[in-house]
Amino acid sequence: MATRTFTYDFSNEVSGFRKKSSFPSGLFINGEFVDSVDGKTFELINPTTEKSLGHITVASEKDIDIAVEAAQKAFDTTWGLHASGQERGKLLIRLAELIEENIDELAALESLDSGKALAFAKSWDVQEAANVLRYYGGWADKVHGKTVEVDEATLAYTRHEPIGVVGQITPWNFPIWLLSWKLGPALATGNTVVFKPSEWTPLTALRIASLIKEAGFPPGVVNIVPGLGNVAGAAISSHMGIEKVAFTGSTAVGRALMKAAASSNLKRVTLELGGKSPTLILDDCNLDHAAGWAAFGILANQGQVCSAGTRVYVQDSIYDKFMEKFIAVIKRVKVGDPFHPETFQGPQVSKIQFDRIMNYIDKGKKEGATCLLGGQQHGTEGYFIQPTIFTDVKPEMTIVKEEIFGPVGVVAKFSNDEELIKLANDTVYGLAAAVFSENISRALKLANALKAGTVWVNSYNTIRTNVPFGGYKQSGQGRELGEYALENYTEVKAVHVNLSGSPPI
Ligand code: NAD
Repeated sequence: MATRTFTYDFSNEVSGFRKKSSFPSGLFINGEFVDSVDGKTFELINPTTEKSLGHITVASEKDIDIAVEAAQKAFDTTWGLHASGQERGKLLIRLAELIEENIDELAALESLDSGKALAFAKSWDVQEAANVLRYYGGWADKVHGKTVEVDEATLAYTRHEPIGVVGQITPWNFPIWLLSWKLGPALATGNTVVFKPSEWTPLTALRIASLIKEAGFPPGVVNIVPGLGNVAGAAISSHMGIEKVAFTGSTAVGRALMKAAASSNLKRVTLELGGKSPTLILDDCNLDHAAGWAAFGILANQGQVCSAGTRVYVQDSIYDKFMEKFIAVIKRVKVGDPFHPETFQGPQVSKIQFDRIMNYIDKGKKEGATCLLGGQQHGTEGYFIQPTIFTDVKPEMTIVKEEIFGPVGVVAKFSNDEELIKLANDTVYGLAAAVFSENISRALKLANALKAGTVWVNSYNTIRTNVPFGGYKQSGQGRELGEYALENYTEVKAVHVNLSGSPPI
């Protein structure tokens, strides 16, 4: 049994849960909270105050072995082909209900260690996590193969079987939401899971572990093992007992993970990676809408969104008018305490991220871009950064090429659609893009020409549970969400039945 409990008293926060939250915070393995084998812990820092929130247990390589063993046992005895789709679906839907019953506490925990605004944590992260789990609960008894017509002497059919024990690794920007993207399709299709949240934001995953137990999932079906990337994450990537790994995080780690998967047991890999997505503002757009959505595309979740629209291309004839509205929207953004009801932008998640973003801002200035807005720390305490906009940028500048993952956007001009397509696709990434135009045929022509897994027309970051999400190029492999994600978690078996044919020899 685990000796560690996480406790935080929210009663002094200005809104939201305002009670004490207390729950076991060991590793959740085989339905129990346990200490790590080597006793190692990780200190959580509140990004708003820079003060310690206490320590959580982190998994060693040996703990990953133990979790994989528990997951394999559950797969062989209670889950996998031993639980019907209806039973699996019922448990996923129960988990979604429990998340909704505890939505205020979960939202408060999400704001506490990630720094995101409470209102967003509740309506976006936690509510959407429940929606995703319920959606996949609905799929659980609807995943099946086909009969394939061959000839009169043959019956052939396919089965969509679970893969086995899957490893799942997520980042810190949407901890509970991405947990639901991972658990939902994996459990609906009968896999068992070893899930590693980011070491920076493990609180909601640990609270969910208690809810998984309460929902009645058999022990070992879901194992939640917070841990460091180069220890627990690396152990999952190279584990011989894990048949598939699903990863969301940076392109650099995704590349390392794929190598580890290839040189261990050639496990199946799906990757959701970084981006540097373009927002295209055409001369026939609704300027007010375009200005608001473009600002949201850059600043949502403190700019820590993989699909953030951080390169804004504006047609030269409307550049001045657009910029006036766009800058006005950004100036209205409230930066501050994530628990304050009016806050839109909280602190960045950690000192490391804060420093990384400030370095990019310095580089932008040094390489000759104009810092039109922001560019400094906001206030003196916490990892807050002013919303920052650069203009006069060139395609080869670092801030135009690299993912910054903070509240920083660049704006450039274009004159015609041909030039625009070249500028927009001039990136190693291909996660998302947006087109703003009131001319639907022009907008769709551009949408087709963009090399991106998602294109929004006249909106930004409106990710939907039943619509696939994923990247072209170095933004990933495979698709999550919607029906498409189910394919990531099933093996297709073809069965040929000989009805009457005699042997050829
Ligand atoms: P990261 O790659 O540093 O870490 C992500 C996860 O991988 C963490 O759990 C970390 O502990 C683990 N990890 C680190 N090193 C590892 C290793 N060697 N082996 C295995 N696991 C390891 O990313 P981050 O800083 O947490 O998140 C930011 C990145 O995530 C950005 O690049 C962002 O674009 C990306 N992201 C992508 C999506 C998407 O859907 N495409 C969504 C959210 C975030």
